[in-house]
Amino acid sequence: MARYTGPVCKLCRREGEKLFLKGSRCMTPKCSFERRSYPPGQHGREKQFRRNRASDYLLQLREKQKARRIYGIMERQFSRYFSRASQQVGLTGTNLLTLLERRLDNVVYRAGMASSRAQARQLVSHGHVMLNGRKTDVPSALVSPGDIVSVRSESSRRTYFKVLRQEMDDRRVPRWLTASAADLTVNVLHLPAREDIDVSLNEQLIVEYYSR
Ligand code: SF4
Repeated sequence: MARYTGPVCKLCRREGEKLFLKGSRCMTPKCSFERRSYPPGQHGREKQFRRNRASDYLLQLREKQKARRIYGIMERQFSRYFSRASQQVGLTGTNLLTLLERRLDNVVYRAGMASSRAQARQLVSHGHVMLNGRKTDVPSALVSPGDIVSVRSESSRRTYFKVLRQEMDDRRVPRWLTASAADLTVNVLHLPAREDIDVSLNEQLIVEYYSR
């Protein structure tokens, strides 16, 4: 599946907030958004002042784009997630966020095995991760309750994972997952509820965007 390969910090500046797409760099003064918090482009500074007059459509579009960028998903795949969410029972916006959270690359990131979703995606696509004991190199694979995500034994001997064993405990793992640093495994306890999903998104605006 295709992925965005352009400049990443530009995306935060476009959305007008930090999306934390670059791992530890986002916490340092090197963060582009800290230095230039206006939109990218020649007329970026002017656009910054126009944001107060945003139409409903613009707000809905920006929220959808922000969600896509946070989870690193291209347009077509995102709209497929939306149609799947709208066919499920319950609130479409919450269903959509739950589907996005269930992605294997997101689970690897949430469990603290990677410092960003992009890095998690690379770990998965390079074949370092197993789902229920089987090598899975598809970042969009969806996990279910009871699933076990682990690191391949060949990969666990790499320096990255040796260092990770010492650091993994210090990171925050959401309550729908449990992570073990000793054997580099993650258990999926249940599907995340909305309050378990720590993203600054107004999913209702995304629903309105697709309901136009
Ligand atoms: Fe966004 Fe991180 Fe780049 Fe800052 S460093 S602009 S938070 S991706």
